[in-house]
Amino acid sequence: MILSNKQKGYTMKFITIDKNNWTKGIDKSRKTYQLFGPVKDENGCLIKKLDQDVHPDMGYYESVMSAKSVLFPQTEKILFASLDESLEDHHIMKRAENDYSPRAVLGIRPYDAKAIALVKLNFDTKEFQDPYWCDAYDVTVFVGLGINKPGPFDFSTSVGTGPFCEENLDILLADLDDKYLAKILTPKGDAFAIACGFDTMADEKESQVLFDILRKEAEKNIASNVEINKLKDKTILELHEAPFWDDMAFSCINCGTCTYVCPTCWCFDIQDEARQKQAFRFRNWDTCMSPLFTRHATGHNPRSTKVQRVRQRFMHKLKYFLDKYDQGIMCVGCGRCVKSCPVNIDIREVCNMMNAYEKQD
Ligand code: SF4
Ligand code: SF4
Repeated sequence: MILSNKQKGYTMKFITIDKNNWTKGIDKSRKTYQLFGPVKDENGCLIKKLDQDVHPDMGYYESVMSAKSVLFPQTEKILFASLDESLEDHHIMKRAENDYSPRAVLGIRPYDAKAIALVKLNFDTKEFQDPYWCDAYDVTVFVGLGINKPGPFDFSTSVGTGPFCEENLDILLADLDDKYLAKILTPKGDAFAIACGFDTMADEKESQVLFDILRKEAEKNIASNVEINKLKDKTILELHEAPFWDDMAFSCINCGTCTYVCPTCWCFDIQDEARQKQAFRFRNWDTCMSPLFTRHATGHNPRSTKVQRVRQRFMHKLKYFLDKYDQGIMCVGCGRCVKSCPVNIDIREVCNMMNAYEKQD
């Protein structure tokens, strides 16, 4: 049985996993869990569902896309209806029967797990719960892999996460060459370790010391950072009317790459399709960088210009989200958008500019 992340009273523990036993163990877990993890192909490394004979590439450096699609697929069937008028319930939309059996994401980077916690603030609120996202979240075990050598685009430590951040993880693995040291953080993580047959206990104090050493070493390698300390004190209007947006947006080609690769971007569009006697409603990733995203049926578009769209993306991530939830900015510092933008628009520069901006009277 998969236990909820919210269950309290669990005492975390440490185990070691000999790498010679890793593949056998995770294969054993397949009786209960669908597995997802990093897989390399000609397009780089992606987090994908692992077929029976496929194993995660735990030596990967970084993934082009994050694990957000495990809970929020790029295309997801959400409703269906029969168009067969001989049936009593024809044209009545019903929830699509998606697979919510237990799943584990292996080797998720700590900043990507934290990103899922930020997305949760939007999909799982007091007033409204997105049933598709929440059902997927509830059955998912997040098995993180600490980052021993962060890359040059990583600025995670300055935005409240980091290479060994534990937030929203069920297990955190540290790669020790011939073995993994695993910190089991939740009952969900415990159940997964048991399903794998991983049960070699490690000394708690020594293991924690080792984790702390690895974390400090990794954090020392992060040379990139952003300043966010003054964002909260600025008014929305002040930042909205700042003079730098035109220059910043000038080179943007509205390709949307920055939003698709971002683990915290959640915009989507709804599309209906009919095939013979069946109708389906799909939810697809969308991007606020596209002019179509906000175009009304009347033809009016409240964000018809490029500068409006670029400003919206950064204002949402760095100001609206911060003001609304008081949980930091909507960015975990993974650096994917910086690395992927074809015209070198860099959220670190934008963030620093917004943070430093003082309105001139
Ligand atoms: S990746 Fe760069 S060019 Fe493409 S939409 Fe984002 S900011 Fe604009
Ligand atoms: S905004 Fe850029 S750096 Fe921040 S989480 Fe998204 S992709 Fe990563």
